[in-house]
Amino acid sequence: MMKQLSLISILMLLCMGCNKTDEVKTRKAIFVIVDGIAADNMERLQPPYIFDIAKTGHYSRGYCGGAVGTYSETPTISAIGYTSILTGTWMNKHNVRGNSNIDANYNYWTLFRIAKEQKQSYKTAIFSSWTDNRTVLLGEGRPETNNLKIDYVFDGYDLDTLRFPKQKDDLHIYAIDSLVCQKAASCVQEDAPDLSWVYLWYTDDAYHQYGNGAYSDGYVLKEDALIGKIWEAVQYREKNFNEEWLIIVTTDHGRDIMGYGHGGQTERERTIWMATNLKDVNKQFTPNSLSHVDINPTICRFMGFTLPQDVNFEIDGTSFYGKRDISDLHVYNYEDKAILSWQADDSQAMVDIYMTPTNHYKEGGKDTWQHVGTAKAGDRQFTVDLHDAPSNIYKFVVVAPNNQLTIWDIKDQKRPFAPKK
Ligand SMILES: [Zn+2]
Repeated sequence: MMKQLSLISILMLLCMGCNKTDEVKTRKAIFVIVDGIAADNMERLQPPYIFDIAKTGHYSRGYCGGAVGTYSETPTISAIGYTSILTGTWMNKHNVRGNSNIDANYNYWTLFRIAKEQKQSYKTAIFSSWTDNRTVLLGEGRPETNNLKIDYVFDGYDLDTLRFPKQKDDLHIYAIDSLVCQKAASCVQEDAPDLSWVYLWYTDDAYHQYGNGAYSDGYVLKEDALIGKIWEAVQYREKNFNEEWLIIVTTDHGRDIMGYGHGGQTERERTIWMATNLKDVNKQFTPNSLSHVDINPTICRFMGFTLPQDVNFEIDGTSFYGKRDISDLHVYNYEDKAILSWQADDSQAMVDIYMTPTNHYKEGGKDTWQHVGTAKAGDRQFTVDLHDAPSNIYKFVVVAPNNQLTIWDIKDQKRPFAPKK
């Protein structure tokens, strides 16, 4: 009897083992930025392919532009938005301040650099109408990015005026977007890069020329159909290979009321949207929480990328994949104290609070992070005495088991109080 039982157990264990190996799928991530489509237009038009992705997973509004009136306020401008997505930080860190004369601070790693700094080798890909996305924003080949190399490159079409001569209404840009998507779909289908970025430009161009209306609506739907080719390629990979894909489609900013412009901090310009095929998202994927800077930590967590602590402590976003313990970190000063407050999804989780009174990281240096205390997430606040470390900038990180939050307490001038003794 014993022998029979153990034989059955062994067979059962073996069988479970088989299933388990079948279940370990190779993970791949792709994100698509389609330029300058306001969330209300998306929701009115319900573009069929993007909403098919959302039907598989989720759709939500979100925001861009950092926190208004604070150190992280970020103009609602294209390259600035892409870099917030790439680095998981706002403009005060990544320092991309416009679409030209860009002086990016590469100390804040892009997703592409993060992928290449992993022990495991990951293949990366970029599909873009705009070459600067690779050469300037990602900083390919520069010593400051550890000589980042992208494995599959499909861009440079904007510079090829023979193949894509300027057309009425800038329709050569739409022709380039079509080629970009065709290249992305075939590369996903055949080579399946581990991390891909697709950038599509023409919708922004249409709105700048025609504002809200039938012309722009038409091109939102046309760009959606192009994205559909990529979505089909992702589904083809999942069906035919042992792979699990994360796809995120988003926009880099909203638009003003008439739809022509953007760049300011009005609600419509700050409002973005995201669609993802992820079935399980946490509370970060809700309109008041979700923002550009959440895409970097979401992809990192999905892919299992790890970061050195000093790089990780600068990330402003929160993963919407996996568990979230805490959210909404704020700071205010009371005499010579900083009072941190947050919200808790898991009140029982324990959090560790770290502080540094320097920002050497910005210049490529090291900050000394001090562990200043622990608290229960459910306490929702913690007071840090700053008396012994007068400074005009304090950086705080609150670390919970499943996520972390960071905030700066920044002064325009030296703190008014003198150090003790
Ligand atoms: Zn844009």
